[in-house]
Amino acid sequence: QWIFLGGKFVKKEEAVVSVYDHGFLYGDGVFEGIRVYSGNVFKLDEHLQRLFESAQSIMLSIPYEKEELEQIIVDTVRKNKLDSAYIRVVISRGRGNLGLDPSSCSEPQVIVIAEALALFPKELYQRGLRVGSVASRRNRPDVLSPQVKSLNYLNNILVKLEANQAGVDEALMLNDQGYVTEGSADNIFLVKNNTIYTPPVYLGALEGITRNVIIDLAEKHGYEMKETPFTRHDVYVADEVFLTGTAVEVIAVVEVDGRKIQDGKPGKVTNHLLSEFRKVVRTDGVA
Ligand code: PLP
Repeated sequence: QWIFLGGKFVKKEEAVVSVYDHGFLYGDGVFEGIRVYSGNVFKLDEHLQRLFESAQSIMLSIPYEKEELEQIIVDTVRKNKLDSAYIRVVISRGRGNLGLDPSSCSEPQVIVIAEALALFPKELYQRGLRVGSVASRRNRPDVLSPQVKSLNYLNNILVKLEANQAGVDEALMLNDQGYVTEGSADNIFLVKNNTIYTPPVYLGALEGITRNVIIDLAEKHGYEMKETPFTRHDVYVADEVFLTGTAVEVIAVVEVDGRKIQDGKPGKVTNHLLSEFRKVVRTDGVA
C-alpha cells in the first residue's frame, strides 16, 4: 500500500510523521474522509471545497492548488489499484517546536491514505442502530465552527466514549441549548408524517456532504424536506430516524435513549433513501 506523504508516495510501513508535527502535538490541522465507489471518487469537489475552507478558517495554507490536490488524491487511488475505498486526506500544520505557536511550523504536511473499504456489516443496516444522547455538548459554533473538520476531534471522541460506556451503537449530540445536532461523525434526520427533518447546521452540526445529497434526493422524490431545530422528544416520537455520513451512507436508528422508534425496524423512507443514495454513488464521481 502506497501513502502520499511529504510530496511523494511512500510504502505504508515507511509512512511516519515527526513527533514534532503539530498535528500530533496539538491536533493542529484539518482532514476529510472520502469514498471511492467503483473506482470513482464520490463528491471530490465538495470534499476539496470543505477541506480548503477548513484550512482557511484555521489560517493553514495548503501547499497545493485544488486541482493539484485532486490529482494527488486520484493518483493515490490508482496507485493502490482500488475500486471500492475510503480516502483520508490530512493536512497538518507540520513540524515545529514544542510551543503551541504555529509560527514555528515552516511547512504544512499533506497526507493522503487510500485503503480498501471495510464495509459496515449488512446486519447493522437490517437491524438499525441503538443510539443514546450524551452529556458532552457540541462545541459552540461561535467558538470553533463545526464546519471546520479539524484534527482535534476530542469533543467527538468523548461523545463516542460515552456511547460506548452506555452500550449503544452511536451517540446523539446536543448543543448547549439541548437541541439535537448530530451523531459523533454523522448527521441526523427524522421522518414524521412523511415530512423529513434535519437540524439546520447553525445549531452546531457539520454540513455533511452525504446530508446534502440526501436533502436533494428527498426533494427530488417528492418528500417535504425541512431544516428545523428539534429536541430529543421529537426524536423519540418520530416515525423514522436515520443517520447519514461518508462512512455509514444512510443507516436507520431504531432505538433512542431506550425508546423504541415505532416498531423498532428500519423505516420505509429510510430504506427508500438508502437505495436511491446507492444508485447515485454508482453514477456520480471523479474517475
Ligand atoms: N458530522 C461530523 C462531526 C462528521 O465528522 C462527519 C463526517 O465527515 C459528518 C457529520 C458527516 O459528514 P459527511 O457526510 O460529509 O461525511
